[in-house]
Amino acid sequence: HAALAKADPEVAGILRDELARQQDGIELIASENITSFAVLEAQGSVLTNKYAEGLPGKRYYGGCVEVDRVENLAIDRVKRIFGAEFANVQPHSGANANQAAFMAMAKPGDVIMGMSLASGGHLTHGAAPNYSGKWFQAVQYGVRAQDGVLDYDEMERLAREHKPKIIVAGGSAYPRVIDFARFRRIADEVGAYLMVDMAHFAGLVAAGLYPNPVPHAHVTTSTTHKTLRGPRGGIVLTNDPDLAKKINAAVFPGLQGGPLMHVIAGKAVAFGEVLTPAFKLYQQAVLDNARALADELLGRGFDIVTNGTDSHLMLVDLRPKKVTGKLAEAALERAGITANKNAVPFDPEKPFVTSGIRLGSPAATTRGFGVAEFRAIGRFIDEVLTAQGTPEQDTVERRVHEEVKALCKRFPIYDVAYPGA
Ligand code: PLP
Repeated sequence: HAALAKADPEVAGILRDELARQQDGIELIASENITSFAVLEAQGSVLTNKYAEGLPGKRYYGGCVEVDRVENLAIDRVKRIFGAEFANVQPHSGANANQAAFMAMAKPGDVIMGMSLASGGHLTHGAAPNYSGKWFQAVQYGVRAQDGVLDYDEMERLAREHKPKIIVAGGSAYPRVIDFARFRRIADEVGAYLMVDMAHFAGLVAAGLYPNPVPHAHVTTSTTHKTLRGPRGGIVLTNDPDLAKKINAAVFPGLQGGPLMHVIAGKAVAFGEVLTPAFKLYQQAVLDNARALADELLGRGFDIVTNGTDSHLMLVDLRPKKVTGKLAEAALERAGITANKNAVPFDPEKPFVTSGIRLGSPAATTRGFGVAEFRAIGRFIDEVLTAQGTPEQDTVERRVHEEVKALCKRFPIYDVAYPGA
């Protein structure tokens, strides 16, 4: 950042410190990843200067010839990745993409149904503090108490009882494959639209390692920065031409002004990377690594919700280890491991405390960690959390932190061989 360092050493210093934090620590936040250098360059480009309200070929501003080309590239590539007929790549975030989908398919006051936050759903799927819970009558389904698996029977019963306009499938902390065909059957039976928010597992879908919701859903939304490993942003996909028009109108002028053309260029670059064979290998490693970590933790006496994972993430129930999510998050951070506390289904603790942590493999897999490193992470987590409240706590945290730093040195970020790096 030569220009930045000269013009604003204060901000440049913060960026340098953040790079060091990412470089020296193990990132296990399931919704994060490490984009390629190419994606960073596209985002830090002259496209940040351009206004382009409207869609390619139909803009409300002049001078859009070049940005039209990049937006068309992003649209064509993402359609190819997911086998969708229509795509809008302008949502500034996953929350905006969901809001656009709701605006295209429902009116304020309508009934919508999604998975509860407490069961692993996302805030934007009808949670009370979110607009989706305030502007709609939100009905929430959950997971089964006995095994943490999505309660399809409850979902179907609630759908028949409340006749929602939209049924949302997908979530932020649900580790298993979702039966999209079953969701679509009940949606058809009660006259609802099926919306799938694949934000978390979109990368696995792109690689053919998780079922593709696009053929089942009326509308599919996603973020682009999680397993997809692109810039922060959202997308909306559909195969229905009428819904496509409504979605485009909902994004702009419904909800947004000018699209972030530099981010859309970053999306185009990321989608280009997704279309390479290397991306499929990466996603296979994401899956293998998540399974290795879950297996290691199970072997060390941790409880994993649903007893494992079909995806990049898992939810660890810490109650057998007698620590809370809040305490675990802080202890792991002291040892150089970043994760987030997360409620487990039917959690007796308050949302700011929780009984669980959510762990994900995408970011550490990007820097080159394999199964051996993920098994070592399982050991680190066990050692740090088992030492909490004992006289050895500080010594163990310091020793694990040294091991974490040594491991990270062997796998530097922005120095690995994947397209665009
Ligand atoms: N949908 C799901 C399933 C998510 O997990 C998230 C983010 O965590 C979002 C939507 C929102 O994305 P954003 O943070 O980009 O608004």
